[in-house]
Amino acid sequence: MTQSVYLDYAASTPLCSEAKTVLLQTMDCFANPSSSHRFGQRSRVLIEDSRQEIAEIMAIQPKNLLFTSGATESINLGIANICCTFRPRTMITSNLEHAALLGICEQMQLINNIPLLKVNHDAFGNIDLGHLDTLLAKNPQSLVCLMHANNEIGNLLPMKEVGKICKRHQSLFFCDMVQTIGKYTINLSELPVDFAVGSAHKFYGPKGVGLFFFKQPLSPFFWGGSQERNRRAGTENLQGIAAATAALKSLHLNIDANKQQVKCMKEYCVQKLQDTFHNIVFVGNCQFDGLYNLINFYFPDFDTDTIFMRLDMSGIAISSGSACSSGSNKKSHVLDALNCPQKSMRVTFGLPTTKEDIDFFINNLSAIINQVGKA
Ligand code: PLP
Repeated sequence: MTQSVYLDYAASTPLCSEAKTVLLQTMDCFANPSSSHRFGQRSRVLIEDSRQEIAEIMAIQPKNLLFTSGATESINLGIANICCTFRPRTMITSNLEHAALLGICEQMQLINNIPLLKVNHDAFGNIDLGHLDTLLAKNPQSLVCLMHANNEIGNLLPMKEVGKICKRHQSLFFCDMVQTIGKYTINLSELPVDFAVGSAHKFYGPKGVGLFFFKQPLSPFFWGGSQERNRRAGTENLQGIAAATAALKSLHLNIDANKQQVKCMKEYCVQKLQDTFHNIVFVGNCQFDGLYNLINFYFPDFDTDTIFMRLDMSGIAISSGSACSSGSNKKSHVLDALNCPQKSMRVTFGLPTTKEDIDFFINNLSAIINQVGKA
């Protein structure tokens, strides 16, 4: 059988066994959670127990967690909602954010006339906190939208500092935590964050389950039903929610060991890449720090798309951009913002990754680089 190796865990993760078991166990739980008979109540209990468990893991009240269909929904409806409710003076984000966040902020600027400002970052993709402070000093009562970990280059945001700056200027802090939930212990009661979002398929749960955490009043995302305490009308994806909860719970049972295991894979891969390729360029500072499961690099003058295609033909899945934009041939907006001269390769590791997978990847990459030559 031909070997295949998956190294695209930032795009999506396989279902863990705990999530699979819960999905199967709850398949017959068909009744509408809003029905008041005993069948319906069984479904209701599943959802409310899940809410309780996830809230406990994230250190927030269950009533401050809304289930959605994914992070894209949480980001779009969350930011639209906050803009309508709080009418922030400006929205402040960066050019390094996920397309979903940039998209809705641009829409809010267009539709609601809320100015959209961009905070500076350095050549490695680190947000300039001094500039954020200056922007907020001029525009207090704003909405700051920044991600916890960058999905392309892995940079981690100093959350506490950003939150403190926001508070100092009476501003709200919305944080995209899609790439960190399930990888790090996150205590929302301690972090000065007002809104946060997550997505189950990034932490070994099913597709179609999003998390929206809020510490400020929230008006409805959808109207026409009393689900999610009148905030998101529509029958809930109860199997998905229960399976997502099982996945997050199982990750948190071993959160430190998981981190150590995956970090070792990253370090092993970085070392092998550096030993094998003398012309490799890492994007940002990903080879040293940032997300413990991500590296991003390119070979100057070598065509990344050709390498990506040949790797795929050899059974190796990596990413040449974020999943939502990798269908396009264009360099991502994040690489553009960093003045990266060409497309790069994002390799992300997960709990199933082994050293053998990495050896297979490096051996194939080496053969491809030798064959392809300069573009
Ligand atoms: N935010 C970040 C940082 C992501 O990496 C992704 C997915 O790639 C999203 C948001 C969108 O998540 P979803 O697939 O749940 O809509």
